[in-house]
Amino acid sequence: MLKRVDYITDLEWNRFLDFSQDLETPCIVINPYTVKRNYIQLRDLFPYAQIYYAVKANPDPAVLTLLANMGSSFDVASRYELDIVLALGIEPDRISYGNTIKKAKDIAYFYEKGVRMFATDSKEDLRHIAANAPASCIYVRLLVENSTTADWPLSRKFGCHPDMAYELIIMARDLGLTPYGLSFHVGSQQRDIGQWDEAITRTKYLFSALEEDEDIKLAMINMGGGFPAPYREAANTLSDYATEIKRYLIDDFGDELPHIVLEPGRSLVGNSGILISEVVQISRKNNTALNRWVYLDVGKFNGLIETLDESIKYPIVTSKDMPGAKEAEVILAGPTCDSMDILYEKYKYRLPVDLKTGERIYFLSAGAYTASYAAVGFNGFPPIKTYIMPWDT
Ligand SMILES: *Cc1c(COP(=O)(O)O)cnc(C)c1O
Repeated sequence: MLKRVDYITDLEWNRFLDFSQDLETPCIVINPYTVKRNYIQLRDLFPYAQIYYAVKANPDPAVLTLLANMGSSFDVASRYELDIVLALGIEPDRISYGNTIKKAKDIAYFYEKGVRMFATDSKEDLRHIAANAPASCIYVRLLVENSTTADWPLSRKFGCHPDMAYELIIMARDLGLTPYGLSFHVGSQQRDIGQWDEAITRTKYLFSALEEDEDIKLAMINMGGGFPAPYREAANTLSDYATEIKRYLIDDFGDELPHIVLEPGRSLVGNSGILISEVVQISRKNNTALNRWVYLDVGKFNGLIETLDESIKYPIVTSKDMPGAKEAEVILAGPTCDSMDILYEKYKYRLPVDLKTGERIYFLSAGAYTASYAAVGFNGFPPIKTYIMPWDT
C-alpha cells in the first residue's frame, strides 16, 4: 500500500480533510504554505539563481500573488497569462516572454506593456521581435533531447540546433536587439540529473565561440524547469539536483558563473494540490474478469491530461485505505464518452476491494498542470474548480 505520510504530514492531511469534506467533487485544493515552502527550498538551494515561475503550471491568482510576494519573477507564455500577471500588480521587468511560438502582434502587446525579455529559437520570430520590441533582451533556446528520461518531455517542438543559436545571437545584435543569453529545458519531471550536464556544456561552447569569434559576451543562462514533484516513481531530492547542477556549472564556467535563471513550474506547485474525485461506478467486463473498472468523476479532460500515455503517475489515496486493507488491481477511467478517457490501464493501481461508488479518491501532488490544463466543457463537464485552503504562513 502507498504510504500517504511519505507525501503529506498527518497535520496537513487532517487539515485538508476538514477543509474539503463538504466540497463538491471533482475539485483541487491548494495549500499555499506548500508553495511557499517549495519556493524557500529552491531559493536556498540555488542562491545564485533568479527564479521565474512558469505561470502555466498553475496560474491561480493566489499562487501568483504568494510567489510575487516571495520575490519571484514570472515566465509567461501568452498575452492572456500576461494580463493575469499584470492585473496582480506585478511589474513588467519581472516578466519574460518565454514562448518561442508567438504572433508579431502579441510581441507588440508585451512590449507595449513594458516587457523587455524575449525567448526565441527561429529567424522569423527574431525578426518579429526586432520589429515589435526594439532593443529588447533576447535569449535563444537550445534544442535538447530528453524524450526518454523526462516523464513529460518538451523536446522537438522547442529550441534550435547550436549552429542556429549561434546565428540567431549574431542576427539579434545586427537587428539592434540585445543578445542576452541562452536557454534550454531538459524536459518536465526530468529524473536524470545528468541531462543538465550536457545542456550546460552546450551553452559553454556557444558562450566561448561567440566571445572569441564575434566579441559578443552573453550574460545569462536560463536553465528552464524540469525539477521533479513527488509522484509514484522515485526521483532524487532537489538537494541532489542542486549539488550536481552546481558542479556542472563550475566544471564549465569556473567561479565566474553567468547570471543563472530557473523557470520552475511543477516543482514549486505540484505537491501543493490534492485533486478530490468521487467514484461514479465500479464494474467488471464479465463475471470472471480479474480487474475492476473504477470510473471517476475526473479524467483526462477535466484535470488529468498528464495521464496521457500514463506519463505522470499520481500517488492515489482512498477513503478506504487502512493498514491491512485487502487491495486488488483496477483500471481507472474518467467520466466522459471518449474511450481515450482512461487514466491507468497498463500501470495497475491497487485499490481497496471494499471501495464503493460514491466514495472519494484523492490524487496527491496534483497542483501542477491540472486545473490549468482542463477542457472548457467537453461532454458538458465543467472545468475543474480550485480552492485555496486557508493556512497562516
Ligand atoms: C513549462 C515550462 C517550464 C516549467 O517546467 P517544469 O518542468 O514544470 O518546471 C519552464 N520553462 C518553459 C519555457 C516552459 O515551457
